[in-house]
Amino acid sequence: MVGGVFRWGLWTVLLASVVPFASALSPPRPALEEIRHTSVPDYTRVIITLSAQAEYNHFRVAANRAHDRPPRIVIDFSSTRIAPRLRAPIPVDDGLLKRIRTGQFSPTTARVVLDLEQIESYTAFPLYSPYRLIIDVKGKSKKTEVDQPPEQAQAPQPYRIMIDPGHGGRDPGAIGVGGLKEKTVVLAISKRLGKKLESRLKLESRRSVKVLYTRERDVFIPLPERTAKANAMKADLFISIHANASENPHLQGVETYYLNNTNDRATERLARRENGLTPPGLASLENGMAPGSDLYFILSDLHHTGNEPESIALARALQTSMMTQVAKRHSKVRNLGVKKGPFYVLVGAHMPCVLAEVSFLTHRVQGKLLRSSTYREAIAEGLFQGIARFIKEELPRMESL
Ligand SMILES: [Zn+2]
Repeated sequence: MVGGVFRWGLWTVLLASVVPFASALSPPRPALEEIRHTSVPDYTRVIITLSAQAEYNHFRVAANRAHDRPPRIVIDFSSTRIAPRLRAPIPVDDGLLKRIRTGQFSPTTARVVLDLEQIESYTAFPLYSPYRLIIDVKGKSKKTEVDQPPEQAQAPQPYRIMIDPGHGGRDPGAIGVGGLKEKTVVLAISKRLGKKLESRLKLESRRSVKVLYTRERDVFIPLPERTAKANAMKADLFISIHANASENPHLQGVETYYLNNTNDRATERLARRENGLTPPGLASLENGMAPGSDLYFILSDLHHTGNEPESIALARALQTSMMTQVAKRHSKVRNLGVKKGPFYVLVGAHMPCVLAEVSFLTHRVQGKLLRSSTYREAIAEGLFQGIARFIKEELPRMESL
C-alpha cells in the first residue's frame, strides 16, 4: 500500500514534467510545400512535396454539371496545412489536366484537386526523404491528335534509350579510394555508352535510335524526376548506372538490379544508400522491409509496374555482357549476378528498367580500375553489347504484341 502511494506520487511528478516536454518536442504538422508537374501529350506526373510524412487518401469525382465542375482527382492529406504560397491555382492545360487547386478542406485536412480534361487512368505512390506523393496521370491528349499531321503519326518512332548516370551535383554518391566520386565515374561511363549506342546500334526493324540522358553534366536531379523524364520522353529502355561501395573493403564485383522486393540485408543497405535515405540512426530504418518501414511503402504500390519479365531479361543481358568484357583483362572481378532491389529511381517507370552497379569504388583494386579509361571502356562496351542483345532478342517479340 505504501509502495502503491509512492508509485502514484512518482507518476504524478513524471507526468507533470514529461507531458509539457513531450508536447514541446512533438513534430510540427506536415505542410504542403511544393507542387510541380511534368507534361507531355499523353502523360503528366504531379509531384507534391510535404515537409513531413502525412496520411493521404485519393479518389476520383465525376463531373458536376450543375455546379460547372469538371471531373477531378482529389487527394486529402490528414493533419496537414498548406503553405500560403501554394494557395493560388496552378494552370496546367496540357490536354489531360486543366489545373491543380489546393485548399484547407477542414482545419486538419489539406486537399489537392486535379481538375481533369480527359484521362484514362492514374496511379499515386509516395516517395521519401523528402516526403512526396507522386501522381502519374495517363491518357490521350485531344490537343495532340489535332496538332499532329497524320503522316507524322504513321512514321516509325525512334527507339529511345534513357541513360541515367546516378547522383550528380550536391549528391556525390559513393566516395571511393583516393576520393574518386561515384557521380564522376558513372557520368563518364554513361557518355561512352551513349556514343556507342548512337554510332553502332542498328535495329532490324529500321527504327532509328535516340539516346537520351537524365543528366549530361554534374547537376543534381531528384530521383522521381529521372523516371518522369524517361516516361515523358517515351523512352523504350531505362538504364541507371551506379558504382558500388561497402564498409567491407574486400567486397568487389559487378551486379545488376531490377525493381522488386527483397529480403536480402545487403541489398537493403545498398538501396538505402542509392535512395538517399539517411543511413542507420533512424529507428524506423532499422526495421528493413517490415510493414511500416520506408522501403516497404515504396514497394506496396508496385503492382502497376508491368515490366518485370523484360527488366529481368535486360538485367541478365547487361550483366552477362559486362562480365564478358571485363573478364578479358581482369579475370578476378566477381560476377555478383542479377538481383532484385527496391530502388526509388526505378519506381513508376513505364518501360523495362534496370540499375547496374558497375564495380566497387571502395575496393583497393577496383577503385583504381574505375579511374582508368580501359576499365571504363570495358564496362561501357559490356553495357552496349547487353543492350544490343536484349533488343535483338526482345524487340521483335515486344513489337508483335
Ligand atoms: Zn549510386
